[in-house]
Amino acid sequence: MKQNNICFDTLKKECAARGLDPKSIPSFNHILDAEALAARQRQHAEFIHAVTYFFDKFIASLPGIPILATATDKHGYVLHMIGDSSIKEMVMKLGIQNGVQMTNEYNGINSVCLALDYQQPVGIVGSQHYHYYLHNAACYSIPIWNRNQNEEIGTLSFMTAVDFAHPLFLSLLMTMKESIERELQLMKQNENLRLLNELIMETTTSGLIVSDKEGNIINVNKAAERMVKQDKQSLLSETAANCPFVGDYLERALSKGLPSTDIERTFKSTSGRETTYLLDALPIFDQTDTLAGAFAQLRDITSRKETEQMLLNTEKLAAVGQMAASAAHEIRNPLTTIRGFIQLLKPSFFDQEHFNLVLEEIDRINLIISEFLILSKPQATCFGEQNLIQILHDTIALSQPQASMSNVQIIKYFDDPSPIFIHGDGNQLKQVFINLFKNSMDAMPGGGTLSVDVHMNVQGEAVAVVSDKGIGMTNEQLGQLGTPFYTTKKDGTGLGLMITQRILKQHDGSLDIQSTKGKGTTITLRFPVKKEETLK
Ligand code: ADP
Ligand code: MG
Repeated sequence: MKQNNICFDTLKKECAARGLDPKSIPSFNHILDAEALAARQRQHAEFIHAVTYFFDKFIASLPGIPILATATDKHGYVLHMIGDSSIKEMVMKLGIQNGVQMTNEYNGINSVCLALDYQQPVGIVGSQHYHYYLHNAACYSIPIWNRNQNEEIGTLSFMTAVDFAHPLFLSLLMTMKESIERELQLMKQNENLRLLNELIMETTTSGLIVSDKEGNIINVNKAAERMVKQDKQSLLSETAANCPFVGDYLERALSKGLPSTDIERTFKSTSGRETTYLLDALPIFDQTDTLAGAFAQLRDITSRKETEQMLLNTEKLAAVGQMAASAAHEIRNPLTTIRGFIQLLKPSFFDQEHFNLVLEEIDRINLIISEFLILSKPQATCFGEQNLIQILHDTIALSQPQASMSNVQIIKYFDDPSPIFIHGDGNQLKQVFINLFKNSMDAMPGGGTLSVDVHMNVQGEAVAVVSDKGIGMTNEQLGQLGTPFYTTKKDGTGLGLMITQRILKQHDGSLDIQSTKGKGTTITLRFPVKKEETLK
């Protein structure tokens, strides 16, 4: 091995000039204490780990040959050393141990410092050393680098007796350095891959389950633990085929090498809530196209499903609304004609009381249809002064036909002619009461009474109370109210109460529901009242 520009004679002169005594035993002035050494070793943990493997193998392969192998950091501090027992004595006499620092200043000519200074492999044999004591030693060092960061790590060295000196030691160091540098590079790449893998596994909202080719589950992410409701530890002891939800599909991927994609599966929790997952299970093949394992992916698409359903419902409702609105028009037109003709018949009517009754009923039908037409048209919200009493009269009239059909009697507990004004949107407020009346009527399939009251309370709020003697609700049902799509009805939408709550919020109002299973339900609405002075 060529050693560029190292002239031992010049170096020896420099040592003499520094006042080093060649007859002395070179000493170490810088020695790390146990704590500082441990810290430095931790900092170089991967390097020491790789070095240990190669040094151990090397020393064990040459029993009885006096060799000391050392690794230093880039400042010349010895981090790790291992020696054949035959070299122990020399090492002890020289005071070489973990934590000592090799320096030109105190140690004269030494291979570690020269390798670091010249950045090349260095061999110093016998009398090339400055100190006489080292004239029966041969030392070899090579600088080592971290290829990932292109950064100097330190040195690898061998020290042996001069009788064993051989340039092959430098070649050996060279090979070892190459291997260690590559090993460190691989360790770094593995660590990067591990981090990337973890990042992908843990940041995704999809549940991921990975199995090896023997069908053992080898990795599971947090989302999957949550979805299959089993923790990682217990999943890792399962076989892929037994894995909840995805077992059959993983098994298919492993045994037949076939993928299963976009499989929709719905599960019902104990509370009755449905969750829908989109499932893929794919075989994994290595570079040689051999099956290496399989993985399953679960995506929670419940909210997408709900949105789809909501759009469907909204569309359905809009279509029904449109049809009903045109039907209402068709009813109103002939009704106007009928009313006109009946009025013409007035003089010939045998019983005037009956005549008035017919007219009143026709007017009532008209009112209902007019109200219905207002509600069925999509309206921009328009806040203004609203008389709650009037709104209740109107909505009760509107609900009356349905009530009669369902054998429900609507009882008004208010007949106070003085208005109760609140600030709000008339159509939205009507919508609230229509929703509540409809729910109450649905709750009394065999008929019953529906009471409605409205008054001012002592706090000066307007209070409307809608109460039925229907099927009522359990506490669990009460807890679910207002959740979109929560319905217990076959043709329900589960949107009524949600819309009601939203409207009340817009009106700064509140909604209180009291219900007993089998007894009935009372819903109390409170609205802030418009102050007299602001009414003008
Ligand atoms: P929908 O009427 O379409 O089911 P709502 O949001 O109006 O949707 O009501 C949700 C659920 O609340 C109903 O399905 C019913 O189970 C319950 N509910 C609402 N009002 C009453 C009531 N007055 N009595 C009993 N149950 C009710
Ligand atoms: Mg409803």
